[in-house]
Amino acid sequence: EAFPKSSVWDAEDLKATFPKRNTFAHKGSQGKAVIIGGQLTMPGSMALTAGASLKAGAGLVTVATIPEIIPIVASKVTEATYFSLKSDAGILVESDLPDMNGYDAIALGMGMGRNSKSEALSYKVLHEKAPIVVDADGLYHLKQFLGVLKERTSETVLTPHPGEMAMLLDCEIKDVKKSPFALSKKFATEYGVYLVLKGKYTVITSPCGEQTVSMTGNAGLAKGGSGDVLSGILLTFLMQHGSIFDAINNSCFIHGKAADLLIEDSHTTTDLLASDVIEGLPRVFCTFI
Ligand code: AMP
Ligand code: MG
Repeated sequence: EAFPKSSVWDAEDLKATFPKRNTFAHKGSQGKAVIIGGQLTMPGSMALTAGASLKAGAGLVTVATIPEIIPIVASKVTEATYFSLKSDAGILVESDLPDMNGYDAIALGMGMGRNSKSEALSYKVLHEKAPIVVDADGLYHLKQFLGVLKERTSETVLTPHPGEMAMLLDCEIKDVKKSPFALSKKFATEYGVYLVLKGKYTVITSPCGEQTVSMTGNAGLAKGGSGDVLSGILLTFLMQHGSIFDAINNSCFIHGKAADLLIEDSHTTTDLLASDVIEGLPRVFCTFI
């Protein structure tokens, strides 16, 4: 599929839509986010999403995960707070949640595992009313109850890579790669979600079918953890932009642009890590907004 040039989100779009931080801002006004996921074998995903969310400007970030990994994540992300969820032998399972009225946005699914025991927790979280970003294993759980998407009363952002998109659509990855625009539009409009189909070029679709493409980023991002960083940026921008579509476009542009600036001098596509991308965010902010 060819895409129209007018749909490419660029640096000018970023500059025109990025919200200015108010001089009188306080942490409560900059958004309070909760990240739900993780399991014993994947503590890093929580650290990357929380770290990216904070670096992207969130006021307060809570990581809700199993108690076993809290000390590990907390040693990496000093500024976050933590909430213990229930663990069954290191797997995150159905638990009491923190008071969800206190949060402006939710991220669900990173590092959570595809275990059916954690599926009930995803189901519960998807019924919460705050805007939500669902990624990774949360998408696998969601596949079992796609109908809940139509019941949600606030924005839902799904961030599949082509493999996850094929899983959601019951098709082959090659079909997703052949028709990313058409398939995205059909899914986003049917379920009323914002869809971020990630890849070399990321296709972003709104629930009414509006589409843009984010062209930033490079092969240095083709490593575990890159998607977790994008989810963290998205989580923050969802709380701070007036328009969710702008928030998503800016998140994808900035995530890729940080990677691009990093490989211009201090890094290469070989060594670039997801945690470097978090550290690279200030360069994009200093240059483009
Ligand atoms: P995930 O597969 O969930 O870890 O997400 C990977 C992230 O890195 C997405 O935001 C992709 O768009 C980005 N990415 C991966 N490979 C490339 C590539 N070759 N060029 C540009 N962006 C990429
Ligand atoms: Mg991923």
